[in-house]
Amino acid sequence: KQRVLSGIQPTGDSYHLGNYLGAVRQWVGLQDDYDAFYFIPDLHSITIPGWDPKELRERVYRGAAQLLAAGIDPQRSVMFLQSHVPEHAELGWVMQCITGDGEARRMTQFKDKSAKQGQDNTTAGLYAYPMLMAADILLYRPQLVPVGEDQRQHLELARNLAQRFNSRFKKTFVVPEPKILPNSAKIFDLQDPSAKMSKSGSNPKGLINLLDDPKTTAKRIKSAVTDNDGEIRFDPENKPGVSNLLVIQSELTDTPIDTLVERYQASGAQYGALKGDTADAVEAFVVPFRDKFEEFLADRAELERILDDGARRAREVAGPVLAQTYERLGLVAPK
Ligand code: ATP
Ligand code: MG
Repeated sequence: KQRVLSGIQPTGDSYHLGNYLGAVRQWVGLQDDYDAFYFIPDLHSITIPGWDPKELRERVYRGAAQLLAAGIDPQRSVMFLQSHVPEHAELGWVMQCITGDGEARRMTQFKDKSAKQGQDNTTAGLYAYPMLMAADILLYRPQLVPVGEDQRQHLELARNLAQRFNSRFKKTFVVPEPKILPNSAKIFDLQDPSAKMSKSGSNPKGLINLLDDPKTTAKRIKSAVTDNDGEIRFDPENKPGVSNLLVIQSELTDTPIDTLVERYQASGAQYGALKGDTADAVEAFVVPFRDKFEEFLADRAELERILDDGARRAREVAGPVLAQTYERLGLVAPK
């Protein structure tokens, strides 16, 4: 079996529909055919200053419970927290030491976020973020790393660092392929359908959070921005709002977009019907999702047992890879 590895940050109280349809649902589908490693990069979430420790802890538990509710199966996948596997931070340091300063400064996420925050609020951790991410990946020698478009440059860095280490020392790391998964839908902001739905996006009204009260969600879908021509058809360029609703409904009901469009056109339906049906489709997904989430979250002991077990299995892979890396660097092994 080939190995797949991916992670999702515990940002905010809830994952949103873009996280699910664009990432987590694909992870669930890969569990049978791949040797799957899924983790919560909690160390990455302290690269931006100003978090509250109590909130962070809660977000991590909520993140894990949401992954389980979405269908990540800890029997078939190794699910763990990054901070439970110290090899990530350790190899992260090694990666920093083989990355050039110029190379690190060219990372667009660092440039964007540091420009937004200003130098006084930008941490060295934010600068080191991509090197820690390279370590996250390379420790497990995965062939497949599903990442969103926004992480493509970081994956490219991980590939460069793997090649650099392999040629400077000895072949140690697998150079991972950046595979954008088929069928991973991109979901747009309901209020600004030219922008992707994003946790840190500006307008909460544009978000479909998986854990929101269904009434709030229905209201947001019903006030989604559409257009004035009144025709239901799939045209992401000219009709991004309508197309986004069609994608959401299609994905959640497993109905091809063409079938939905034909049905609406045959009945002469208006946007109200499209919104109502989309809200129903979202509700049919989120209601059982929330129930499962609550169940997983309530049993803290079981959640901790799952994460412990995941960390133990992750370390079985990561430990020897780090030891081999240290040895090849010329560090003296402890007796
Ligand atoms: P942030 O705004 O903090 O970057 P985000 O909403 O973009 O948060 P991430 O944690 O960056 O979420 O992404 C987690 C996963 O979800 C990634 O694989 C990313 O590609 C995917 N993802 C995020 N937003 C969307 C979206 N609107 N449509 C499809 N996939 C998405
Ligand atoms: Mg993002």
